[in-house]
Amino acid sequence: MFGKNKITKLQKHSGNYLNVQEIFATIQGEGPYVGQPAVFIRLGGCNLQCSFCDTEFDSAHKITLANLFAEICSLAVNNDQQLVRKLIVITGGEPMLQPIEKLCNKLIKKKFLVQIETNGTIYRKLPKAVKIICSPKNSSGKYYPIRQDLLVRINAFKFLISASNPKYSKVSEVGQSQYQIPVYIQPIDEYDQQKNQQNLQKTIEIAQQFGYNISLQLHKILNIR
Ligand code: SF4
Repeated sequence: MFGKNKITKLQKHSGNYLNVQEIFATIQGEGPYVGQPAVFIRLGGCNLQCSFCDTEFDSAHKITLANLFAEICSLAVNNDQQLVRKLIVITGGEPMLQPIEKLCNKLIKKKFLVQIETNGTIYRKLPKAVKIICSPKNSSGKYYPIRQDLLVRINAFKFLISASNPKYSKVSEVGQSQYQIPVYIQPIDEYDQQKNQQNLQKTIEIAQQFGYNISLQLHKILNIR
């Protein structure tokens, strides 16, 4: 989208359907669950417009909760109908824009591990078992504040790092120290080999200086979706 997406507002309905961009089986490439086989549900729409955003989420379509759940369950098993993808990642766009509570409850009941990837600007009362990974985003040199009610629920932060973009050249305090929330740092993919190398170097420097975990985009290294 590269900052060209339309801004989506908070959606208020019962959650019996969701606007879904895509559902697919893959391997989690980022953050604390990296390397785990997973089913990804990419929801449509975002409330922010980040210039580096390389995700398509503006052509989503409505799917009923029942159909969405059935699709997830069918993607979670292998050809022998064995459950091989226990991790369900709900991402976007910004997934907290939509009423995902019912979906999360159904998945947790079915004993899936549910992970939400959010920019931290919206709160939803999700089941306690849901893991929340927050990637704060920056505007005009300052990170958007993380919702206080969400902060206590966040399991890990993922900060993006760029060597040339001062907005993303360091990790700022957004509340992670207060609750001792683990921090992952990830070089931004700028689709330029030289810049990416510099972003990686910068990421390594910061990780070594401050003791953060490095997150690389494993799915891109593996050349999978
Ligand atoms: S918050 Fe995430 S999904 Fe939304 S525009 Fe920024 S990078 Fe893209």
